Amino acid sequence: MSREVLARIDAGAMRDNMDLLQRRAPRSRMLAVLKADAYGHGALAAGRALEADADGFGVAGQGEAQHLRDAGLTRPIVLFGGFDAPADIDLLRQLDVRPVIHHPAQIAMLEARGAAAPISVWFKIDSGMNRLGFPPDEVPEALARLRALPGVAPDIVLMTHFAASDEPDSPTVARQIARFRAATAGLGLPVSLANSTAVLDHPDAHGDWIRPGGALYGLTTKPGRCAADDGLRPAMRLSARLVAVRDKPAGAAIGYGGSFVCPEPMRIGAVAVGYGDGYPRHAPTGTPVLVNGARCRTVGRVSMDLVTVDLAQAPDAKVGDEVVLWGDGLAIEEVAASAGTISYELSCVLTRRVRFAQA
Ligand code: PLP
Repeated sequence: MSREVLARIDAGAMRDNMDLLQRRAPRSRMLAVLKADAYGHGALAAGRALEADADGFGVAGQGEAQHLRDAGLTRPIVLFGGFDAPADIDLLRQLDVRPVIHHPAQIAMLEARGAAAPISVWFKIDSGMNRLGFPPDEVPEALARLRALPGVAPDIVLMTHFAASDEPDSPTVARQIARFRAATAGLGLPVSLANSTAVLDHPDAHGDWIRPGGALYGLTTKPGRCAADDGLRPAMRLSARLVAVRDKPAGAAIGYGGSFVCPEPMRIGAVAVGYGDGYPRHAPTGTPVLVNGARCRTVGRVSMDLVTVDLAQAPDAKVGDEVVLWGDGLAIEEVAASAGTISYELSCVLTRRVRFAQA
């Protein structure tokens, strides 16, 4: 039996999730965020699944945009990272990739380009995240420079990004909306504010374009919550196989460092998945897995190729049986919480050793 960690990707779940988000924001256009290989789900699979009903795609880097175009995807693409070299601008225009302008240096490059064929751009306002974008007091001048350029198309979209739209009582969302509205009032341009959790929980932030990422894949970053709580369907199921089942006596120290010592005789399964596949090394003893549908817990350290599991809840499990790491009712958010991270990171960091298949 060959060792295989399998990620099953459910295109139907992605489509259902996109429908749900679109129903929440019926008047907004849909920019489906495909960056980071669609949060590890496969950008081409996701792009093909979503293309019919998405109005555009969002990516972080030029390589990601080129990848979608090479595969024949034709929707407009918004490039969140913008560009950092003048030579990129014409290539982006030819590819119908719309860079986000977030820094004066980019405006200077557009000015130097002169009256070449106009490129469509988005314009990022920093309403309080203090990462990328023009602070409100710089907006009038920056935008006036941009709008004066014959090489920039007039269909500029004004955008901002939330720092904490996933926190239920954070006052920062209302503050950011107010700053953004004040900075954009009277400009007569379309606006885009909402990532996944803002689409779900902040209707006042829907604007002309919504930009969900994680929710499309059935993921959430809301603390203590699962995406299913919002009616979203997980689009990834990750599984591996049991490669050993052994009865160990009380006192046996399991795995590297012997960090878990059996307090009593225990049946221990070795599952062929590890941090070499992207399973989080820092997942502690007690992280849930499903063995033949039964909830079991990991014990001891995660190693590169193996995870050890307490089979008390699945005593009949045998070599070759499937173990679900997330999916099938075991929320990736639970695994992420146990490992001290968020679901986005877990799906993003799967390695090339994982085989991807469509459900
Ligand atoms: N818009 C921008 C600019 C982003 O950087 C991201 C992701 O971080 C998103 C939208 C999508 O966010 P989420 O996956 O939380 O919906």
